[in-house]
Amino acid sequence: ADSAEKHRISRDDVVVGQILGEGFFGEVHDGVYKSPTGERICVAIKTCKDCAADVKEKFLSEAGLMKNLDHPHIVSLIGVIEVDPVWIVMELLEHGELGNYLEEKQYILTMPTLILYSLQISKALAYLEGLNMVHRDIAVRNVLVASDECVKLGDFGLSRYVDDQEYYKASVSRLPIKWMAPESINFRRFTTASDVWMFGVCVWEIFSVAQQPFFWLENGQVINQLELGVRLSKPQHCPPSIHSLLTRCWAYEPRGRPTFSQLVCSLSDIHRMELEQNVS
Ligand code: ATP
Repeated sequence: ADSAEKHRISRDDVVVGQILGEGFFGEVHDGVYKSPTGERICVAIKTCKDCAADVKEKFLSEAGLMKNLDHPHIVSLIGVIEVDPVWIVMELLEHGELGNYLEEKQYILTMPTLILYSLQISKALAYLEGLNMVHRDIAVRNVLVASDECVKLGDFGLSRYVDDQEYYKASVSRLPIKWMAPESINFRRFTTASDVWMFGVCVWEIFSVAQQPFFWLENGQVINQLELGVRLSKPQHCPPSIHSLLTRCWAYEPRGRPTFSQLVCSLSDIHRMELEQNVS
């Protein structure tokens, strides 16, 4: 079926619950959706507060991108209600943002689990790489937790299809400088290779229990440090094999960085070895 058709749902089938958090456009609520087959699905409902036509278009563009995605480690879109008040309905990830989850469970989460999360995020990004999509905002705040053993990439608010020139020139000023590759900071150049850099920072966050990268610097100082060759150092409990992968993600030249499919292979190996070590 036509994907626009497939994702059109009726407000009568949605029961809105409590506030989960504040999104860029408005409140996000939990709720329940009754599917055409009668199944009751727990959902997250994104609302849009001051939704004039231009804002509405931006708000819905995130859902527009998500309609075409289908991956076990990407939050799935359930439907869109395009008449006012506009709603975006997504699958609910009960445990919320990975950043908060890491802090809450820091004494329980094991090394293999942290590697597993990194592997799952790399798989989601390898899938986007195959679709020529750049995400542009990879950080633990944009990864949601489904269960102890499953995380999913969410928040496609900044993602774009890469155009013919193979990169997207950003115009927005709300940019996550401390996660960004040098070419993104300098020239607003976003590619799969700059996503690889950001993925490295996100994995660094996972192993540092959601500390802010470069929290000791002002945004304006970051590019200088990067150009001097300074990089985030190995978090205390990060395996050296992971850290050496991260330093490759942070090659100054985009071409020097691994691809996501290569990262999936390396992380699978590291995950397998870590599991074997823990058994013996
Ligand atoms: P920003 O651009 O500032 O990140 P946003 O508009 O993309 O905001 P989100 O960050 O995606 O909004 O959502 C706001 C809050 O709602 C998040 O902190 C998260 O906890 C919660 N949330 C969003 N989507 C889901 C979901 N599918 N399941 C559970 N919680 C969710």
